Amino acid sequence: MAIPDITLNDGHTIPQLGFGIYRVTGPDAQRVVETAIEVGYRHFDGAALYDNEVELGRAIAASGIPREEFFVTTKLWRDHHGRTEPHAEIARSLDRLGFDYVDLYLIHWPHPTLGKYLDTWLAFEEIRDQGLARSIGVSNFRQEDLAVLVAESRTTPAVNQVELHPIFQQGELRTFHRGLGIATEAWGPLGHGTYSVSDIPSLVTIGEAHGKSPQQVVIRWLLQEGVIVFPKSSTASRIAENFDVFDFELSEDELTVIRGLDEGRRIGYDPATA
Ligand code: NAD
Repeated sequence: MAIPDITLNDGHTIPQLGFGIYRVTGPDAQRVVETAIEVGYRHFDGAALYDNEVELGRAIAASGIPREEFFVTTKLWRDHHGRTEPHAEIARSLDRLGFDYVDLYLIHWPHPTLGKYLDTWLAFEEIRDQGLARSIGVSNFRQEDLAVLVAESRTTPAVNQVELHPIFQQGELRTFHRGLGIATEAWGPLGHGTYSVSDIPSLVTIGEAHGKSPQQVVIRWLLQEGVIVFPKSSTASRIAENFDVFDFELSEDELTVIRGLDEGRRIGYDPATA
């Protein structure tokens, strides 16, 4: 199954559907990534925080598939913000992954109260210039944080990875991203384990009309909205199910119903105070 690519503002491409690897560690992490590779996923969303870069790198190496066929993201955690710290930290991430480069390096959270994210971003530009990250971007940045980077640096982030799911659709932020050419990535697309999209009757009904699960409907909705998405599961059947979303299309009416589910209600941390 060919996964559509999105072209980022720096010219690199990213598979629009990937696999998230939060909350799975040790041998389970390697097994889950190997399963996902067998299913066909080539885009993996990791982070230093997730404590599974070693297993992610091992699973990719064990696949025998060339490194350049994968798109791997990792993220810098809050302890390493600043003008110099990110250089040491990307070296540690690459060492754990066993890679020469990552495809995408993200600032995990802005932590505006630390007052360091611009310095971190200037270091990220150098990391990109050195070829250690093909693309650089951010996560959980607010409009005002993005505006600082655009005004004070050479580089508009390639992506902003933010909480985005049926009850928190981020319409205003996504419009802001479009204006700047920033691609939107969705985290927690299936409810982040806090709620289940299976409990939303209209998603069940739409799914039944297509012979699909509510989870597949949500992934399909995000793909049709132009959002990059990487659902997470540790269960082989669900890993396959979440990939099986390219043989149906939601109608305009169905998209309107899903857009109507937005409650503007965050389930994760608020980036202003996290
Ligand atoms: P998710 O919304 O993808 O998944 C939530 C839960 O849904 C899973 O734990 C699983 O139990 C269940 N699920 C998955 N597929 C299912 C299916 N087909 N049927 C029924 N249930 C199913 O949650 P997530 O892991 O929070 O988000 C996805 C990825 O986003 C993460 O793995 C991580 O890579 C990234 N993430 C980033 C941040 C950030 O701050 N940048 C925060 C959270 C997550």
